[in-house]
Amino acid sequence: MSNLMEGKRGLVMGVANRNSIAWGIARTLSEHGAELAFTYQGDAFGKRVKPLAESIGSTMLLPCDVEDISSVDAVFQTLAEKWGSIDFIVHAIAYSDKNELKGRYSETSRENFSRTMLISCFSFTEVAKRAAAMMPNGGSMITLTYGGSTRIMPNYNVMGIAKAALESSVRYLAMDFGLEDIRVNAISAGPVRTLAGSGVTDARLMYNYQKKNSPLGRTVTLEEIGGTALYLLSDLSTGVTGEVHFVDSGYSIVSMPRLGELKA
Ligand code: NAD
Repeated sequence: MSNLMEGKRGLVMGVANRNSIAWGIARTLSEHGAELAFTYQGDAFGKRVKPLAESIGSTMLLPCDVEDISSVDAVFQTLAEKWGSIDFIVHAIAYSDKNELKGRYSETSRENFSRTMLISCFSFTEVAKRAAAMMPNGGSMITLTYGGSTRIMPNYNVMGIAKAALESSVRYLAMDFGLEDIRVNAISAGPVRTLAGSGVTDARLMYNYQKKNSPLGRTVTLEEIGGTALYLLSDLSTGVTGEVHFVDSGYSIVSMPRLGELKA
C-alpha cells in the first residue's frame, strides 16, 4: 500500500455500521496511512462504530447530531484541543422521512423539506466552515451525493432536491475556501446497500436497474468509492476543486438501456 495519507489527520462523519459508505472510505484512508477521528449519531450507532474505529487504531470517537449545532461545535472544539489542525473531512450524512421517499415529490411536507435540507445539505456548510478554520495549511473536504440530484429517480423526491443544493454548496464552498488552498468536492456514488439507501421505497429495484443498465453492468463497491475518496483527499488531486465526481459504473452517461436487453 502507498503512504498517500501519511501524516494527514481527518474527521469522518456518517459511519452507522460496516456497510456505510463512510466506513468504506475510512478503511481505505487508514490503509494509506491517515489518522482518523469519527463522529456517531446517538448511543445505538456509537456501539457499532466504536469497534470499527478501534479496528483501525482510532480512539477519537465523538457524538454528533448535526441537528444540534452545539454538538457540531463540541466536535471541533475537541479536535482543536487534541489535534490543533486537520487536513481533511468526509461528510457522509443524509436523512429524510422515509414516508416521503415514495410517491409524488409534490406531497413533501414543509417540516420534512426543512429537516431534509438541514441534515443532508446545510450540515455540510456548517461543518465545512468549522473545518476550514482548522486547516491553516490547506486541506480537502468531500461529501456524498447521488445522481437523483439532476435526473429523476422514482421515490428519491426531496432527497434529490437536497442533493442538488448540496452539489451547489460544494461549488460555492470551493470558491470560498480556494485561496486558502482548501478543496471541496463531492462523490456521486451509484446505489449501495446501506441503511440510508434502504429508506428509499423500491431501493432494491433501483439498485438492480442501475446494475443492469450501467456501462460496466454492475454496481460499485465500497472499495471503489474509497479509492476515489483517497484520490480527492490526497495530494493526487491538488488541482481539483468544486467537482462532482461520479463513481457509478458509468450509469450517469446512459440515456437508454442497451438495445439487446430491451429486445430480450
Ligand atoms: P448510512 O445509513 O450508512 O449513513 C448515513 C449516515 O447519516 C448515518 O451514519 C447516520 O447516522 C447519519 N445521519 C443521519 N442523520 C444525522 C444527523 N442528524 N446527525 C448526524 N448524522 C446523521 O448510509 P450511506 O448510504 O452510507 O449514506 C452516506 C451518504 O452517502 C449519504 O449522504 C447518502 O445520501 C450518500 N449516498 C448513498 C448512496 C447509496 O446508495 N447508499 C448513493 C449515493 C450517495
